[in-house]
Amino acid sequence: MAGEICCKIDVHSVTKYFPSPGISFLQPPPHGPETSRFSVPNAVDDQSNLSSNEQAASKHLKDIHMSGCLMEDFLTAARENTEKNLETCGVLGAFLKDGTFYVTTLIIPKQEATSNSCQAVNEEEIYAIQNEESLFPIGWIHTHPSQSCFMSSIDLHTQYTYQVMVPEAVGIVMAPTDHSRKCGIFRLSDPDGMSILRECHETGFHTHRETSNGSPIYEDSTNIIFNPNLRLEIFDLREVVPPL
Ligand SMILES: [Zn+2]
Ligand SMILES: [Zn+2]
Repeated sequence: MAGEICCKIDVHSVTKYFPSPGISFLQPPPHGPETSRFSVPNAVDDQSNLSSNEQAASKHLKDIHMSGCLMEDFLTAARENTEKNLETCGVLGAFLKDGTFYVTTLIIPKQEATSNSCQAVNEEEIYAIQNEESLFPIGWIHTHPSQSCFMSSIDLHTQYTYQVMVPEAVGIVMAPTDHSRKCGIFRLSDPDGMSILRECHETGFHTHRETSNGSPIYEDSTNIIFNPNLRLEIFDLREVVPPL
């Protein structure tokens, strides 16, 4: 539907999270500091409604500010692949200031994709940008062009490599053909999901054992704040095929 935002985002003012001025990646707020916290579709966007366990789990994680355009911009960059039923993946870079991560960079690496997998190649090009800009690898984003919005076993292993480096790291799945949920921002549950992935040495698509207490192996990230004043820089490293 034209103009529809891919995720249901509840916009409400959380001015206490607005950082001090002087961050070059932040544009002056056009209508005052207004950010929106990512909310799970159909969930009530109110911290007070989280269970004490969820609050405990999210308490030690730093907030991640993200441009509200990030997911739409990525879908646009992925459109050609999506139309061919091929996945597209990208890497998120963030800087850390005053205990908060700000996602400022989306790197779309050279990649090889199928309808249910995507593998970056020439990964040194990603590291070069991250090093040059002093960015934290705060997570990754990929499309499911024809599958639903979930984390496959291969996705979980990819997510593990990010979360080992940065505990806040997220895995964003964009599933434009999933009519019940078009996107999700996920992380492995910690410690349960993390320990299962740490012990698993299987490759390819496989099943994982359940967690010892029956809790999910991955969960929605609760520490995401959409910040309309945050600019996003996109490095698209894919080779452009010249017209014949
Ligand atoms: Zn996937
Ligand atoms: Zn595994």
